[in-house]
Amino acid sequence: MADTTLHVGTLMTQKVIAYYAANPIEAELVIGLLQTKGISAAVNSNSSAGGIGELPADVLETAIQVPVSQLSAAREIINDYETANHSNEWFCQNCQEKNPGSFEFCWSCQTPQPSQ
Ligand SMILES: [Zn+2]
Repeated sequence: MADTTLHVGTLMTQKVIAYYAANPIEAELVIGLLQTKGISAAVNSNSSAGGIGELPADVLETAIQVPVSQLSAAREIINDYETANHSNEWFCQNCQEKNPGSFEFCWSCQTPQPSQ
């Protein structure tokens, strides 16, 4: 019994990847969202350790880690976020990048979202 308790305790502090954000800016947004709900989310420091400026845009995918004990709560929040996001996606008029609905400005060039 004592062993099991110890094992669970260790597991609970372990970090797992809850979500892959499309880029570091989206990662910041999702992490902020999770943190407001009391989840200690953070960027997986191993995933995009290299200088961002040196990577092509499609390698900007950024992993977000949460403690195992908060994974299911995090997943729910992320699901809601994704649902809201994908229904409102918009394309930048300046650089044609796709932006999540939650972004008011283009993640790539900071052009404001066009009013619909
Ligand atoms: Zn743009």
